[in-house]
Amino acid sequence: MAKKYVYFFGAGAAEGNMRMKDVLGGKGANLAEMAGIGLPVPPGFTISTEVCALYYKNRERIPESVRLEVEKNLKRLEKTVGQAFGDPKSPLLVSVRSGARASMPGMMDTILNLGLNDRTAAALVVKTGNERFVYDSYRRFVQMYGDVVLGLKPVHKDDIDPFEAIIERKKHELGITIDTDLSAADLKDLVARFKAAIRAKTGGEFPDDPKKQLWGAIGAVFGSWMNDRAIAYRKLYDIPEAWGTAVNVQLMVFGNMGGDSGTGVAFTRDAATGENVFYGEYLMNAQGEDVVAGTRTPKPISELRKDDAKACVQLEKIRHTLEKHYTDMMDIEFTIQQGKLYMLQCRVGKRTAFAAIKIAVDMVGEKLISEKEALTRVEPDQLNQLLRPIFDQAQKEAAIKGGRLLAKGLNAGPGAATGRVVFNSVDAEAWGKRGEKVILTRIETSPEDIKGMSAAEGILTARGGMTSHAALVARQMGRVCVAGCGELLIDYAAHTMTVKSRTLKEGDWISIDGTTGQVIEGKVNTKPSEVLQVLIEKTLAAGKAPVYQTFAKVMAWADKFRTLKIRTNADQPDQSKNAVAFGAEGIGLCRTEHMFFGEGKIGPMREMILADTLEQRRAALAKLLPLQRKDFAGIFEVMAGLPVTIRTIDPPLHEFLPHEEKEQREVAAQMGIPYEKVRERVDSLHEFNPMLGFRGCRLGIIYPEITEMQARAIFEAAAATKKKKIPVLPEVMIPLVGHVKELADQEKIVRATAEAVMKEQGVKFNYLVGTMIEIPRGAVTADEIAAVAEFFSFGTNDLTQMTLGVSRDDAARFLIPYVEREIYAKDPFEVIDRDGVGQLMRMAVERGRKTRPGIKLGICGEHGGDPSSVEFCHLIGLNYVSCSPFRVPIARLAAARAAILNAPKPEAAKPAKKAAPKGKKPVRKR
Ligand code: ADP
Ligand code: MG
Ligand code: MG
Repeated sequence: MAKKYVYFFGAGAAEGNMRMKDVLGGKGANLAEMAGIGLPVPPGFTISTEVCALYYKNRERIPESVRLEVEKNLKRLEKTVGQAFGDPKSPLLVSVRSGARASMPGMMDTILNLGLNDRTAAALVVKTGNERFVYDSYRRFVQMYGDVVLGLKPVHKDDIDPFEAIIERKKHELGITIDTDLSAADLKDLVARFKAAIRAKTGGEFPDDPKKQLWGAIGAVFGSWMNDRAIAYRKLYDIPEAWGTAVNVQLMVFGNMGGDSGTGVAFTRDAATGENVFYGEYLMNAQGEDVVAGTRTPKPISELRKDDAKACVQLEKIRHTLEKHYTDMMDIEFTIQQGKLYMLQCRVGKRTAFAAIKIAVDMVGEKLISEKEALTRVEPDQLNQLLRPIFDQAQKEAAIKGGRLLAKGLNAGPGAATGRVVFNSVDAEAWGKRGEKVILTRIETSPEDIKGMSAAEGILTARGGMTSHAALVARQMGRVCVAGCGELLIDYAAHTMTVKSRTLKEGDWISIDGTTGQVIEGKVNTKPSEVLQVLIEKTLAAGKAPVYQTFAKVMAWADKFRTLKIRTNADQPDQSKNAVAFGAEGIGLCRTEHMFFGEGKIGPMREMILADTLEQRRAALAKLLPLQRKDFAGIFEVMAGLPVTIRTIDPPLHEFLPHEEKEQREVAAQMGIPYEKVRERVDSLHEFNPMLGFRGCRLGIIYPEITEMQARAIFEAAAATKKKKIPVLPEVMIPLVGHVKELADQEKIVRATAEAVMKEQGVKFNYLVGTMIEIPRGAVTADEIAAVAEFFSFGTNDLTQMTLGVSRDDAARFLIPYVEREIYAKDPFEVIDRDGVGQLMRMAVERGRKTRPGIKLGICGEHGGDPSSVEFCHLIGLNYVSCSPFRVPIARLAAARAAILNAPKPEAAKPAKKAAPKGKKPVRKR
């Protein structure tokens, strides 16, 4: 049997259906589906997308066999509707509509009212008695055909359409301003003038023969697949050229037949808020694109009841039918012809993140979809919209309209923040203490900015990417952050920043939108999200917070289906508390070095590093011990028995050292040694490649007393917590292990300290000793390391850096171009490089489990909060992921989706294909 290229639809039946988008395009598949379920769809047929490729192969001509198939379907259409092309009594008019597999809005063209010529127009006047309608349709047809098929449409957006120019001239001659004031005779005259313009431009006549018109239009639709606009659009959205477009030929219905006719577009729910209300616009006595063209102001769909109560009721019913059938929010086009309603298009509607979440949750409540299905419909990152402080939208728009948009950077920490510009952390803290809202504005940030960042509403940097220090810490703290805003020229000395020849001084107000990356001059008001008001600030009751309730439902369902545990990266009690409120089930990474920057701690820390003798070092450590113990106790109390992974000191020492003379003198005075000596020590600790230098477990191996002090602080805090009858579970994690002997060395110290503390304090507590896997050698020798380690936590930041041989801090210059050129599909510091780094992880998992089957496996790199990376962690069988507190909800959802979307397919287990049980639809692939 010959291959089928044309599919008929209409009159309660269709040869295609919604699952045939590949062949019929989105529009054609849904027209067939709607016809098939008995909705009033004007009949017609779809020429398949495969013909598009044939058309190009056949030197831009339709192959003969397809021509015959189209002719046959045209006959069938004529018979079905009792009209015929060119018929002197009852002429058939059709639309010719493009429609690719993926929607390409406005990329290709549609022609309406095809089949009109002077004779059929006259026949229609007799048939309808409505001369104005006929010539309105006729002039639209000649215009669209001239533009689309005969190539009169201007190439540049700014050039005017020659037909629009003619209409304008005509209206000017008549002294009228609106189209609806044109009489039938005026429109008839326009048709003649249009045809003359076509003759002048092309040297040929406008085709009178409807068949000729049809083939011209079909060819033009296929031709439009390769126009510049379509090519550019495909490139942007990764749509393969090979897909091609389908062509739909469909009986015309007329919304421009008078006051009892009209046309409209609608969403079955509000696409912005997700509310379950019918949302749309319509115009009476209008056709096609009039509603969106902006020439007349359309009315809200809620008023349709007044204009046509019957159609309104029918449309409302169809709205429910469609939602039930597609189990989703739909975007529809309809036309009313003399009181009779027709459906012209439907597709799954685009929506905001906010609406996506609300609709998914509501539809579960309405029993339209399952909880699992709802979770697959919400992208984890969309949850951010529910968590972030929000700008007053109207105020923001007004600011931008008023020319206050300064620049755009990376949207590194979503949310909205308004405050006064300060250029260093000391000022940020001081201003913060005075109760000022500040935006910490830096060229880039470093660990010593932590306190300033914490005091700020938002962080703005001129340099650095999505995983820069600023971005990473901002996300952990839940601060709004715009990073890498290269247009800012920051002058620390002058306390100014210049952008687009405007200079802002310290104390000037700015607003940054971490969701869009926009930087706006001046104040724009914000408010915290409902979710935060309920969970964190506790200023709002859950019962009074509908947005929070939606959020809570998504979270509860996610917890039902995920198998990964979710922990958080936190090193302060308040951060830990927030994370627990967001659902964290433990701490996956507590970076002890952040504590050293706290109040009163940096001094003893520096003394410790600069010490010449063991004695001096012990003296300094003795000062640090109670401070660290207090920090750990605070965290243990908040976590109340949930596991807390504490990493021993990790960064290269230079990050703690005083580099300015003034500070060096202070340290010298504290230690009672000459300033020169301090300077010498600082110089001698300089490293060429600090990230591969004296850091991680190497510090604890050379200076065991540091590990001992940290272990003691941890275990004394654990003992104290236990004595308060609060359960506690510390997990001591040794960083940067490449050789099992490094871990064994440190483990011995940790265990000896634990034993000593238990004896001294007279309490017992459980604890684990494990390691980070972040050096390739550590991953490769994971079987050996697992003999000592009770857990692994993948430090994927360093592991990526070392596996790729790419310095994270120096990568911006080439990594962005790398991603643009698709050398790496995604920034490997944001999304786990599955084929490289991921393979090392997989190997370490297998080897580690071989040695120690019950080994606990997790990840604490920044990737732990990235949905794709969470999925990968699920696939390789980790036990948990750990991420910054404010990403915990995102990770919970990502973990649930990973479990749902990667669940073994039940069909695969069954031996043979079985028909779906009656009354149950097969699950639609999304
Ligand atoms: P797009 O892909 O740009 O949405 P469409 O093919 O949907 O283009 O057509 C554009 C407009 O023409 C729509 O408003 C649609 O409702 C209208 N239209 C298309 N076919 C018909 C028809 N057979 N009868 C009446 N109106 C039609
Ligand atoms: Mg459309
Ligand atoms: Mg590391």
